[in-house]
Amino acid sequence: MNHQDTIIALSTPQGSGAIGVIRLSGPDAISLANSVFSGKDLEKQDSHTLHFGLIKDGEQLVDEVVAGLFVAPKSYTKENVVEISCHGSNYIIQQIINLLISKGARAAKPGEFTLRAFLNGAFDLSQAEAVADLIASNSKASHDVAMQQMRGGFAHELKALREQLIQFASMIELELDFAEEDVEFANREQLRNLVTKINHVLNRLISSFEMGNVIKNGVPIVIAGRPNVGKSTLLNALLNEERAIVSDIAGTTRDTIEDELTIGGIVFRFIDTAGIRDTADIIEALGVERTLEKMKQAKLIIYMADAAQTVAEIEEQVRGLQQLAIPYLILINKADLLSPAQREALMKLDVVFISAKDKLGIDELKETLLAQVNLHHINTSETLVTNIRHVEALKQTENALQRVLANVDNPVTSDFLAMDIKQALHYLGEITGTVTTDDLLENIFTKFCIGK
Ligand code: GDP
Ligand code: ZN
Repeated sequence: MNHQDTIIALSTPQGSGAIGVIRLSGPDAISLANSVFSGKDLEKQDSHTLHFGLIKDGEQLVDEVVAGLFVAPKSYTKENVVEISCHGSNYIIQQIINLLISKGARAAKPGEFTLRAFLNGAFDLSQAEAVADLIASNSKASHDVAMQQMRGGFAHELKALREQLIQFASMIELELDFAEEDVEFANREQLRNLVTKINHVLNRLISSFEMGNVIKNGVPIVIAGRPNVGKSTLLNALLNEERAIVSDIAGTTRDTIEDELTIGGIVFRFIDTAGIRDTADIIEALGVERTLEKMKQAKLIIYMADAAQTVAEIEEQVRGLQQLAIPYLILINKADLLSPAQREALMKLDVVFISAKDKLGIDELKETLLAQVNLHHINTSETLVTNIRHVEALKQTENALQRVLANVDNPVTSDFLAMDIKQALHYLGEITGTVTTDDLLENIFTKFCIGK
């Protein structure tokens, strides 16, 4: 990919809005914009200024626009950038983009603006990835975590560790150069302390992924239970809108969509429930491989029963759930229909009573959900790893450092020591992008939308 030319894309969403913003970035961004802009000479204006003018294709007036100027290196990409705000018609937007392409701009690839920002050193790779997370964030918690990562919290932490390791790596290299003389430049005690310290940080980061992942992708929850106990009604009550279809006929609700809702700033994701939601028998369901796999993805299983079921039956289903070793919650719906005797018998099972139809007990259920997944006290100001790529690299770093620890006191293995430290540095560098390959970059940036 050429990183020297001038690229163009619509940066606001496709479809018509009040305005559309077209972004140009590259050495010729300002002169290209100027060649179709009348009103002012854009090449003579200061950075960070806005200019009203007309975009013309020859004599043909295309639109009245406002051009925002960002002169290199003071821009998102660190290149010359022009942002043209035009009227949000698809026709106008296409006209302007085509016009500028005919003048020499190139249509940007997905994420190419952010790729350039990364290549030009505006931020490291983990921060670039956080830009994508930030754009995709749909809850306060995922927003907080992405924002923290974009602003470099994670990157700074790794950078400091990496720099200390680099010092040791170079001292050990030096020892290898003086191998004949049997000198020890790198103090082994200090090296061991440093590696131990780094491993602590790595451990914390690796284990933060469980929570980071949940924040980014939502808490996966499975609702299981007999047909007609009120699962869809509950989802509707939780979602507060008629999203799933409620019906009176047993087994007719085939709501396989993934319902997402935010409780206390956390996204809960009711994972694909085809074949699970309407399971009469948990134990039977466990026998079905596909169903079992789905259940194992859940952070919590809600087993929903209703007043028509006997206590003995519910107890049996719960025993089935216990085999899974996944936290579960027994929810008794249609509490409005329970006899006092039934209610008393069910109390012994540690259940939550609701009446989904009348929206009774929903707030208590929400509280219970938050408590069960133990996320109500998340501290999003602490660095959380949310990216599987980062966790993998952190684990590899840790492995390499374990080998360093194993060899640190062995005088004959200086060269292994140097090699393992280099490995650790390599994996740490992959996270921040000090070490990259074209494949890796492509993989990351093609997940962005065009215009980002
Ligand atoms: P699903 O098959 O488990 O998804 O059950 P539905 O949500 O489709 O509900 C089945 C029937 O139970 C519907 O007629 C609901 O109106 C009814 N229902 C749901 N919740 C309650 C409740 O709390 N009390 C009563 N009495 N009926 C309910
Ligand atoms: Zn249903």
